[in-house]
Amino acid sequence: MPKGHSIGMISLGCPKASVDSEQILTRLRSEGYSISSSYQGADLVVVNTCGFIDAAVAESLEAIGEALAENGKVIVTGCLGAKGDIVRQTHPRVLAVTGPHAAQEVLAAVHQHLPPPFDGIDDPFVNLVPPQGVRLTPQHYAYLKISEGCNHRCTFCIIPSLRGDLVSRPIGEVLREAEILAEAGVRELLIISQDTSAYGVDIKYRTGFWNGRPLKTRLHELCSALGELGIWVRLHYVYPYPSVDQLVPLMAEGAILPYLDVPFQHASPRILKLMQRPASSENNLERIQAWRAVCPDITIRSTFITGFPGETEAEFEELLSFLEAAQLDRVGAFAYSPVAGATANDLPGALPEEVREERRRLLMEFQEDISTRRLEEKIGRSLEVLVDEVDEEGAIARSQGDAPEIDGLVYITDGQDLEVGQFARVQVTDCDVHDLYALLDQE
Ligand code: SF4
Repeated sequence: MPKGHSIGMISLGCPKASVDSEQILTRLRSEGYSISSSYQGADLVVVNTCGFIDAAVAESLEAIGEALAENGKVIVTGCLGAKGDIVRQTHPRVLAVTGPHAAQEVLAAVHQHLPPPFDGIDDPFVNLVPPQGVRLTPQHYAYLKISEGCNHRCTFCIIPSLRGDLVSRPIGEVLREAEILAEAGVRELLIISQDTSAYGVDIKYRTGFWNGRPLKTRLHELCSALGELGIWVRLHYVYPYPSVDQLVPLMAEGAILPYLDVPFQHASPRILKLMQRPASSENNLERIQAWRAVCPDITIRSTFITGFPGETEAEFEELLSFLEAAQLDRVGAFAYSPVAGATANDLPGALPEEVREERRRLLMEFQEDISTRRLEEKIGRSLEVLVDEVDEEGAIARSQGDAPEIDGLVYITDGQDLEVGQFARVQVTDCDVHDLYALLDQE
């Protein structure tokens, strides 16, 4: 067998970019390239970049510079690659630049500089790729991307100009991938896209097939089918459209996790309109109450932007009142950041950075008590958790209300004998602002 060249991969940015990296790595492996975890061991390095906010642009440019200095042969892909000439202007020595979800172009660029040793895809004896592909997440959870792009035009966001309009993956293909992941030992699927609730809109909810069964390409149908796999299914980036109400009974029945990541971004109708947010005219408080009436255990996570251009003191107060009334479980906040190319930058009433940042700090401080109270309500309860890490001090797990990397953890002090990727039942004994403390349930 010819010796394969080795490729290094630096993957920056959001989970959607990680999925792109996984696809590139999977295809490289299937063609016989090996994957190197060091610059020195690699014949070439692919840097998957993020171009969302200025800090991400700077981080991506720095990573490209480091890869050039340490290795010398660099191909750039991802969102920053779609932002004009910035990569080539800063680093003229890069071998190629592509935009996001451009596995084909990345592969073509790799072939040009390092010809593939063989085409493993056609040869089952040399196919080096596990059926579930190459993943960057731990063995027991995986991101499942159901669509690309976005039909909205939120004024603070440049993703549609980077990634284009919504393109939903066929439902049969998504479910097949989910099945393969579950068979490979994945215990939690994190459903991601730019706008999960819009799944199938672009193809008019076309009927697809999974194991011979007809299914419409729509989120409700997808979630009930995923519920049959018997593993955790967690929804991210869901907008509060009326259609989301139909998903909540699936959560109450246990088909999918009682967890919704809904980026509300603001509560003032005027600001939401200026942001051009999807579902901005919905009454979100009523909607949240209705969800809780159907599924009392639902965990709701959201993100908010403070200091949007023109945001008045009163509108910021309105946002805090919303938080008080909504009693959300988890909240992230960003001070408004004028991303180059976003139309919101042209709105009147830009606020100074100190004000945007101070409001972010105030919001997080305000929410801290609410999040803590929500966690305190879990003390004394028995919960199902999924184990992420085990060492001599016990186990670190997550409850159904905790998404990996963004939410809290459950520390199980007597969990030394548990195994990573195992489900366990615990009794919650204590909490702090983010995390729960628990003992194994003896019943
Ligand atoms: S919904 Fe809005 S914020 Fe989200 S990707 Fe689309 S345009 Fe950007």
